[in-house]
Amino acid sequence: MKTTEYRNNEITISYCPFKCTQSDVCTEELSNVFQNSVIPWIDPNGSSTESIIKQIKKCPSGALMYKRHKKEMAY
Ligand code: SF4
Repeated sequence: MKTTEYRNNEITISYCPFKCTQSDVCTEELSNVFQNSVIPWIDPNGSSTESIIKQIKKCPSGALMYKRHKKEMAY
């Protein structure tokens, strides 16, 4: 299985299943985004970007990562 990506307007969340230790920290603490019983299991629009980033930083294995998108310039 390879790394999968999930995007909202502000960030891309990536998930590497090889690294995941199934600690369930993400699914227990932010279940609107990380859901065991749903495919796809990550809903990047399930909570605010800041909440998602905060949760990703708690992933003990490093399986979850994120990249912020560059802001569009307004003219
Ligand atoms: S917090 Fe990280 S290690 Fe734990 S289940 Fe979620 S992705 Fe896997």
